[in-house]
Amino acid sequence: MEYTQEITESEDSLRVIFDNARDGILLADTTTQQFLFGNKAILDMLGYSSNEILDLSVADIHPRQSLPKVIAAFEKMVRGELTLAPDLPVLRKDGGIFHADITSFPLKLWGRTVLVGVFRDISERKKTEAALKQERDRNQKYLDTVQTIMVALDAQGRITMINRKGCELLGYNEQELLGRNWFETCLPQPMGMEKVYPVFRRIMSGDLKSVEYFENAVLCRDGQSRLIAWRNANLTDEDGRIIGTLSSGEDITARKQTEAEHEKLQSQLLQAQKMEFVGRLAGGVAHDFNNMLQAILGNIELALPEAPAGSAIRKNLESAHKAARRSADLTGQLLAFARKQAVMPRVLNLNDAITAMLKMLQRMIGEDIDLAWMPKSGLWLVKMDPAQIDQILANLFVNARDAIAGVGKITIETGNRTFDKDSTRLQPEAMPGEYVLLAVSDNGCGMEKDVLEHIFEPFFTTKEVGRGTGLGLATVYGIVKQNNGFINVYSEPGRGTTFKIYLPRHAQAFAEITTISAPQPPHGKGEIILIVEDEASILETAKAMLEKLGYMVLTAAKPSDALKLAETYAGKIDLLLTDVIMPQMNGRLLVEQIRAVQSGLKCLFMSGYTADAVARHGVLEESVSFIQKPFSYAELGQKVRLTLEG
Ligand code: ADP
Ligand code: MG
Repeated sequence: MEYTQEITESEDSLRVIFDNARDGILLADTTTQQFLFGNKAILDMLGYSSNEILDLSVADIHPRQSLPKVIAAFEKMVRGELTLAPDLPVLRKDGGIFHADITSFPLKLWGRTVLVGVFRDISERKKTEAALKQERDRNQKYLDTVQTIMVALDAQGRITMINRKGCELLGYNEQELLGRNWFETCLPQPMGMEKVYPVFRRIMSGDLKSVEYFENAVLCRDGQSRLIAWRNANLTDEDGRIIGTLSSGEDITARKQTEAEHEKLQSQLLQAQKMEFVGRLAGGVAHDFNNMLQAILGNIELALPEAPAGSAIRKNLESAHKAARRSADLTGQLLAFARKQAVMPRVLNLNDAITAMLKMLQRMIGEDIDLAWMPKSGLWLVKMDPAQIDQILANLFVNARDAIAGVGKITIETGNRTFDKDSTRLQPEAMPGEYVLLAVSDNGCGMEKDVLEHIFEPFFTTKEVGRGTGLGLATVYGIVKQNNGFINVYSEPGRGTTFKIYLPRHAQAFAEITTISAPQPPHGKGEIILIVEDEASILETAKAMLEKLGYMVLTAAKPSDALKLAETYAGKIDLLLTDVIMPQMNGRLLVEQIRAVQSGLKCLFMSGYTADAVARHGVLEESVSFIQKPFSYAELGQKVRLTLEG
């Protein structure tokens, strides 16, 4: 009995120890799997009394479907092959289930081997874990749905998190990026290491808490870069130590581009409006001035032969004539700029037009400057007034010469160019289509940006008084616009300048060739000419010139007067010399009406500029005879003869 006594004592002390344990403890028979003892904690967990547990075995405290797994684990534990069976479902008396990690070991007790199972209820932990996982999933989903790029870095700058948007932008999948160094992998160098990494270091050192706005480019897998606006904040652990950074970024590449384009378009539009305005102003003044000049020139030319050769008055008249001619050239340029120059366009090959001018151009630039001519073969045709090509080239060449100090080189090139919608998007003045390119380059001094912005404005010059009029490029601009072309200029200080002029291709295959010879003014044979002109001084001058040339002249200051005259005049009127734009009706209408009573009437139009039905957009029909004001005695003589005989 002493033996039993001992057992009871040790059993009691064991119970005390076991009952104070927080984990549940069950002792089971290794063969029958019958429970021999359960501590207070396990009885609480299971809901059985200390006696009830003795009637149960392993199979009774686990749900049926997990029994195979439980039994297998039990047997392994008995053999000492397994000590921990994690996360096993345990069945309570009331049918409820909780999860437990079961640690187990065999023990010799009461003369036989029993299996001790220590149950740790992990339901709470599992619940927390599930909640955490749910939260993580939700966060991940959130990170993946936002249109913001999110990147977290550790203290070394390695990527610890990157959301879907970030992966998409960079062109990698998440696994490829995690752990890689952000600054080396995802930023263009040297900017990444030299400019951005130092900012990261400052955040890591605590010097910068957060960065509200930081723009930098990222390098995508395909080699492209995108501009990103970032917000950066530091990440800390519980103790407040900085362990990394979290950045959110927005791709602003497209926005930046649009902004830049918008700005450029805006300023181009302003510039175009300014040019338009100045053009109107200049054109208006030039037109009136041109009429005055006509009178001055005409009168001088009439007076000249009357003054004895070598006399002082003759000399005065000659220099007045020279000055008036120069003024006429200037107003001509202004009219060209204002797109009010009357022109006679022909279909032509630019190469031919340029080749014909080369000698003159070379003479203009002198011997120290080389002229290189690179015509493109198979050049498309253009339709424009060849005189305008001369004007363009002359102006560009004078400028190029002025830009070159000492020796240098000027190159003329031609080419065919096609522009689509995209390539003309940034140039409001350019329309998509096919163009013939005329490029003039020099290796002269080039221009600063603030000069470049103004070069096409009339009277803008950087040259000293007397050297530059500021009308050269304004003329070029006007001519190109009148012909529906556009100009690009490339220039940098010290790098020379290239003007690229694009003229619309003329679709017609054959060039109509027109040549006008220039003989001495032929005299008239007493033909009758009716002049219609509202500007009295011009009317008188023209009358005097024509009479001197041997014509009979009738005059009318108004179209209505002219009509009356034509109806009542007994004889046949041979030629009508008329202004194009007059208060009552335009020249073309007048011709039609007079022809009704005077059949076979020939007609010569004169104008400083034309903007009416006869010459829409300043372009006269090719078949119409036309003389531009101011005209000289000789010009008038030739044109009248040509018209009469044509
Ligand atoms: P001007 O030649 O009478 O000054 P332009 O209208 O021809 O007037 O030119 C305006 C200005 O543009 C010039 O004064 C000069 O500053 C600049 N410029 C024009 N062409 C060139 C060029 N090829 N190289 C450098 N500057 C130029
Ligand atoms: Mg010039």
